[in-house]
Amino acid sequence: MDDQTPSADAARAPTVSFVSLGCPKALVDSERIITRLRAEGYALARSHEGADLVVVNTCGFLDSAQAESLAAIGKALNENGKVIVTGCMGAEPETITAAYPGVLAVTGPQQYESVVAAVHRVVPPRHDPFLDLLPPEGIKLTPRHYAYLKISEGCNNRCSFCIIPKLRGDLVSRPAADVLREAERLVAAGVKELLVISQDTSAYGVDLKYAASAWKGGELRAKFLDLARALGELGVWVRLHYVYPYPHVDDVIPLMAEGKVLPYLDVPFQHASPDVLRRMRRPAAQEKTLERIARWRDICPDLTIRSTFIVGFPGETEGDFEVLLDWLDAAELDRVGCFRYEPVKGAVANELAPPVADAVKEERWHRLMRRQQAISARRLERKLGTRQQVIIDEACTRDGRRPGPGVGPTVAKGRSKADAPEIDGTVHVASRRPLRVGEIATVRIERADAYDLFGTAVGF
Ligand code: SF4
Repeated sequence: MDDQTPSADAARAPTVSFVSLGCPKALVDSERIITRLRAEGYALARSHEGADLVVVNTCGFLDSAQAESLAAIGKALNENGKVIVTGCMGAEPETITAAYPGVLAVTGPQQYESVVAAVHRVVPPRHDPFLDLLPPEGIKLTPRHYAYLKISEGCNNRCSFCIIPKLRGDLVSRPAADVLREAERLVAAGVKELLVISQDTSAYGVDLKYAASAWKGGELRAKFLDLARALGELGVWVRLHYVYPYPHVDDVIPLMAEGKVLPYLDVPFQHASPDVLRRMRRPAAQEKTLERIARWRDICPDLTIRSTFIVGFPGETEGDFEVLLDWLDAAELDRVGCFRYEPVKGAVANELAPPVADAVKEERWHRLMRRQQAISARRLERKLGTRQQVIIDEACTRDGRRPGPGVGPTVAKGRSKADAPEIDGTVHVASRRPLRVGEIATVRIERADAYDLFGTAVGF
């Protein structure tokens, strides 16, 4: 992984090659570990070969993710030989040590102290006052203009298909002032978009009994609404991920209508059939979600709703699946991701009902994606002729050069307020004036397909 802050002394510093796998929450863990290592004078290596050590932050959510993690460990052992493993798979160290007895240490998720201590044992830190000087926002693995902001760890729910609570434990929320301090530091360092993440964002603060913490001469409660309002005062885009449709989420929608936080909700509904939801043991499964979505859109017509679904959950009948398709037609969600059910080892769901055949899962996956593609395309078509604010992620000239004065028109890729990085669509922007990464431009939308928008910059 590339280090953004090279130093003339880096050649003398002990070097660590870091592999970060998994979801944005794991990425935040990696950022914290790397920040700590950099603060202690370690440098990041560009490749495993020649590094003093490799750290692999693993993901264990699905069997396929575990296989990817094991392959990454194997590669690190081949190319370097000195390997420390951390992250979700570290909760079951025997799986790793059985496959790779040569791994030097295995630590679990969020055990920042243990992974850093393991690094110290293998390659002791070297004190260097220059390398100890860190940017105050820490080391970020995302581009400079957006950052993930993790507000809690763990989860109090017990969805039957998920082993995250086993791996990461119950909900532990950060005090609100702590989150706000990190957010302010990120904004001061140039971040234009904060992506709020956790396992269950709307449950924020439950474990703290919503206790207040001291913030700017007053007090701020550890409540979802209070936190969203305070983040909305920072003057940057604030995007909320992993929000469950609990009734109190309704209170945040007016903040979206006022433009304080982005009119965007990432709600993992997972299914619509009451029987499947019951077997999934989903939080808020009993809520009347279609009515709730309609109410949200009444308050905030620009609201974008993104969701994910699982097809082929054990016992899912053709009837259940059709309930889901009908629900999608009625809900008209903007963005949808879909997974074929995977029987993760240790998940209760595997025992609840007979498995669905792989061929049926596959066929349902294609039917769902086709159905949703038409809905997404219709929703995007409504944006034709509108002006959208677009944050620029990549920019170059038509012949691939870096944009700059006198080099001609720019073609850029960015995202509107309706698009989260990595998971949603792209806005392709033509511009007479060079666009810079991280800049927010006003774009007139001229064309749309099922996922992306195309337009021209008309304001900067
Ligand atoms: S809400 Fe459910 S799926 Fe999400 S982390 Fe918690 S238990 Fe897992």
